Amino acid sequence: MATEESSRPASGLGGRRESWDVLVVGAGTAGCYAAATVARAGYDVVVLERKDESEAGHIACGDALKGASKFPETIPRERLEPAFTNTEVDHGRFEIPHLDTVLNIPVPGELAVIDRLEYGRRLIEAAGDAGAHFHYDTVVNDVVQNGAVEGVQAISRGEPFTYEADVVIDAAGALSLLQDKVEFDGTSFDTNVNYSQFSSAYREIVTVEEPVEWSDALVFKPTERAAGYLWYFPRTKTEINVGLGFQMTEEPMQLVEDLKRDLSEREEFADAEVEDKLGAALPTRRPYDSAVAPGYMAVGDAAAHVNPTTGGGIAGAAYAGKYAAEAALDGLEQGDVSEEVLWSYNQQVMDHFGGRYAALDVYNIYTTAYDVDDLMGLLSALPVAKLSEAIYSGSANIGWWLKLKTALKARGHWGTIYDLYRTKSLADELLAHYEDYPDDPNDFTTWRNRRDDIMAQVYEETGAEPKY
Ligand SMILES: Cc1cc2nc3c(=O)[nH]c(=O)nc-3n(C[C@H](O)[C@H](O)[C@H](O)COP(=O)(O)OP(=O)(O)OC[C@H]3O[C@@H](n4cnc5c(N)ncnc54)[C@H](O)[C@@H]3O)c2cc1C
Repeated sequence: MATEESSRPASGLGGRRESWDVLVVGAGTAGCYAAATVARAGYDVVVLERKDESEAGHIACGDALKGASKFPETIPRERLEPAFTNTEVDHGRFEIPHLDTVLNIPVPGELAVIDRLEYGRRLIEAAGDAGAHFHYDTVVNDVVQNGAVEGVQAISRGEPFTYEADVVIDAAGALSLLQDKVEFDGTSFDTNVNYSQFSSAYREIVTVEEPVEWSDALVFKPTERAAGYLWYFPRTKTEINVGLGFQMTEEPMQLVEDLKRDLSEREEFADAEVEDKLGAALPTRRPYDSAVAPGYMAVGDAAAHVNPTTGGGIAGAAYAGKYAAEAALDGLEQGDVSEEVLWSYNQQVMDHFGGRYAALDVYNIYTTAYDVDDLMGLLSALPVAKLSEAIYSGSANIGWWLKLKTALKARGHWGTIYDLYRTKSLADELLAHYEDYPDDPNDFTTWRNRRDDIMAQVYEETGAEPKY
């Protein structure tokens, strides 16, 4: 079977050293798309995964998959579709208990809630069928570097192992250990990364006896204590992904306890059974300014390719994996894996979704400077159709602002709305700047300085603490 562990001829050191064209660390979405892309081009690629084969693909997630119809073709959608357990979801349901309000906001485009383990396994199987090799139970704990990154060191099934490769793709998820090990001095790689730019999140898969009434909705709710959010995403009418999270700048929540309390207050969960529990950190920050160093690229959560306002990271991970692999293939063909050659990866990411995510992050920064009740009051006063446009159009569409202002005129919240309007203008300026992301690493510092000037204005305008 293609996903079985391979054993390539060892090239020394008692069979504990192997050499590959491309090495991918992590068998999540980003790693599988990267590996499938490299394998399809006929190069040798191995994915190193710390979990064993039965656990690989088991990832803490809300299981909401947006835009699957537009995923890269490298792993065809039909391969993943059987894991889409609920394709009826067409709106978000925002519950705001202390204002006694429920907002139903349509979600445009395709959305599915998925069986995440089944999806993860299918990804691995498809990458394996494309020709990628998988080594499970292999924990990467260091890198091999001589200027360029040239490989990694790992404990594979309890034995020390050195893997060499022309290119290492770091798909090891949020707060990837590899980035503590690589020497990034003299490269453009973004090291301005701090735990406070992440959220801590926890989820359970819960089954209930009676179908829930909101099985066609993604349910969101602010948490009662501390600044956080809860979600209820229906995988099926009786199997619900329930979870919660908070930005690590906030006072820590007791995630398990707080979730239990909320569940106990909802009558539809009276006889609920918990099937599975997992927690993890996720980046709720802008994408890395550059995720490239000689011989090395970071993809997916390892480079913060997550929509920082929704926490949705599956789509970004899939595309980042593909783009990084394409840059790696260029490097292999040219026999040059320098930053200059791999740079096209940064450009692809920024052009496709990175600039938009960086602009959306400005709204996160805005919210840290406001009282939650004030923002919830504002949310409940918004006209639903406009809000839907606002949430899903990203930052570029100005039309809805004008309509929003008119609609809100008599409803109070003018101060907050005005500040939001100013924030929106700066987010748009930022987005325009990301559209000019440099095509040459030599122009990167000038670009970044200008970006930092725009961010300084954001902090000044919102009164928020600098995030970066
Ligand atoms: C609670 C929660 C809810 C979320 N909800 C959603 C949602 O509803 N929709 C959505 O789109 N996104 C959601 N996300 C984000 C989404 O899960 C991630 O963005 C996505 O999984 C990132 O994929 P990835 O391949 O980059 O990393 P991951 O899926 O995290 O994969 C990383 C892999 O690397 C392996 N690994 C790590 N370190 C090592 C090592 N040292 N050696 C070997 N292997 C290693 C891990 O075992 C793992 O298999 C959520 C995240 C969390 C935490």
